[in-house]
Amino acid sequence: MSHHALTIHQAQEKLRAREVSAVELSQSVLNRIQATDGRLHSYLTVCAEEALAQAEAADRTLSNGAIPPPLCGIPIALKDVILAQGVRSTAGSKILERFISPYDATVTQRLKEAGAVIIGKVNCDEFAMGSSNENSAFAPCRNPWDTDRVPGGSSGGSAASVAADQACASLGTDTGGSIRLPAAFCGIVGLKPTYGRVSRFGVVAYASSLDQVGPCTKDVRDCALLLEVIAGYDSRDSTSVNRPTPSYTTHLERGVSGLRIGIPQEYFIEGMQPEVETAVRDAMAHLQALGAEAVPISLPHTEYAVASYYIIAMAEASSNLARYDGVRYGYRAAEVEDLGELYQTTRAQGFGSEVKRRIALGTYVLSAGYYDAYYVKAQKVRTLIRQDFLDAFEACDIIATPVAPTTAFRLGEKLAAPLTMYLSDIFTIAVNLAGLPGLSVPCGFDHHGLPIGLQLLGRPFDEEALLQAAYAYEQDHDWRTRKPPL
Ligand code: GLN
Repeated sequence: MSHHALTIHQAQEKLRAREVSAVELSQSVLNRIQATDGRLHSYLTVCAEEALAQAEAADRTLSNGAIPPPLCGIPIALKDVILAQGVRSTAGSKILERFISPYDATVTQRLKEAGAVIIGKVNCDEFAMGSSNENSAFAPCRNPWDTDRVPGGSSGGSAASVAADQACASLGTDTGGSIRLPAAFCGIVGLKPTYGRVSRFGVVAYASSLDQVGPCTKDVRDCALLLEVIAGYDSRDSTSVNRPTPSYTTHLERGVSGLRIGIPQEYFIEGMQPEVETAVRDAMAHLQALGAEAVPISLPHTEYAVASYYIIAMAEASSNLARYDGVRYGYRAAEVEDLGELYQTTRAQGFGSEVKRRIALGTYVLSAGYYDAYYVKAQKVRTLIRQDFLDAFEACDIIATPVAPTTAFRLGEKLAAPLTMYLSDIFTIAVNLAGLPGLSVPCGFDHHGLPIGLQLLGRPFDEEALLQAAYAYEQDHDWRTRKPPL
């Protein structure tokens, strides 16, 4: 097996046994990027020089005999909304095209402290707004399983790079499904942690009450490993929650015996691709065969999730994006007469059309006269949705659903009608409104050879149960051994 195909835990073993050096591993990943990224566009910035220097440092640590830090010498990619000191961070937007971050996000700092090699910054929808990666201001990222199809969004580059062995693992962000949807479309594991589990400090804000950073990995063990490194309290993020981080890898093999798995009737809808439903139901049956108990549950306010999410997310986005004014960061319009014109022209030229649509809608739902009718109402619905989940968790320990109603769609297919694009998020969005953890794990392929994802949802701060169930399922299947035909 080529080095670039290694998972984190496989690479850890080989590095520690000195069967491969950190420099060889990073070089192999860089070669892979060079060979494949012309077709995929996963990367917006490749940090070749810095990565090799970090790998050299890792080799010195590995050879000094002491136990190395957990990610020592492991190449990891960052979604381009996550800041890394001295590296360009565009957030997929022209307005930040030349923005070099003066500091590290907390998650980046934790990766570095764990010895990781930051291999580059990966593609995403502009400011993480989208479900297909087609809203990237630079180039759409493509699905490694079929380059005419989207990788899902907004963390499309995070998922595609891992599926295509252009990184051992990556970090993405998930505001309304942006880790889980691309993970499902690209056939990898993706986890959105509980809101407050992982620091948002140094992550370009989209909708601050929903955003979470999470791992995109080749298997469940890697997901547990990476979460262990990035999770934990951070005084620089006021919404970070101060509670201990469990050792997710230690109890990974606990199994599902006696686990009650809730199956919500509202998540199997008309118009769903039949192969997706079959694969997800087969996965549930498999978990039952392993000793779990299936419990039918109901999440009655599910049908209002997409509408209330898009009101809340756009409202928060309109406020968060006010800071891009041509004065402090990135792009600045030339030849303007006064300050008002500077703001207007910078924003008109710097933002793409989806971002503008969201600023306009977000401003509208927050404006006097509409605030109560839209924003306040959406917040009330949000409370009902969270309560639905908390009620359901009286009867079950985790919930299993599809990640999306279909497998990856074609580029351009949903661009003309934003609403059809928003509906790709129908099964992922409620989780963000409720602040719960959600995981996507591969559970099969359709007749085009496109991956299908199983979604597992948990109680607040119970990522452990999701990882254990996903691990038990994954061990009995070989989906992860299939590789895209690149
Ligand atoms: N597709 C959703 C949106 O566009 C979710 C994006 C995300 O999770 N960042 O808002």
